[in-house]
Amino acid sequence: MRTLVLNAGYEPLAVISFRRALILVLNHKATVIASDPEHPVVGVREDVAFDRPSVIVLSRYVRIPQSRLVPVSRRGVLRRDANRCAYCDRHATTIDHVMPKSRGGQDSWENLVACCLACNNIKGDRTPHEMGWTLRFRPKAPHGTAWIVRGVERPQPDWDEYLVAA
Ligand SMILES: [Zn+2]
Repeated sequence: MRTLVLNAGYEPLAVISFRRALILVLNHKATVIASDPEHPVVGVREDVAFDRPSVIVLSRYVRIPQSRLVPVSRRGVLRRDANRCAYCDRHATTIDHVMPKSRGGQDSWENLVACCLACNNIKGDRTPHEMGWTLRFRPKAPHGTAWIVRGVERPQPDWDEYLVAA
């Protein structure tokens, strides 16, 4: 069970564990605006049970660089690239470092692409240029608040009204 965090202006910011959310609330850094009373949280503070926060809003506006909003992940790269290989457009199940890691390539949105097993095996520690391959697109960090939530296994129904603009 996770909690949707809204920035002070009510724009979706992140999805965190309800336990972390509750700590923000107890420290007066956020306010609960939707909760699930049927699944109370116990053990956060002595014998008190709290309604499980489903949506919280931060008390103070937090400015976060766009690039840090969406942490890079294997699953995220595959999703961004719609599970198509960046080199041959076939179904991709792996990710590839465009500039190989062994040669200083970073774990970044700009250096990771979805890749099919065949291309990944052939490419090895070489660059697309050395292979004579071209990327079908220029890899970029995804943006937009929808991405914050899209990676979550089970977005909660009571998040919907806060995600309309996403
Ligand atoms: Zn391929």
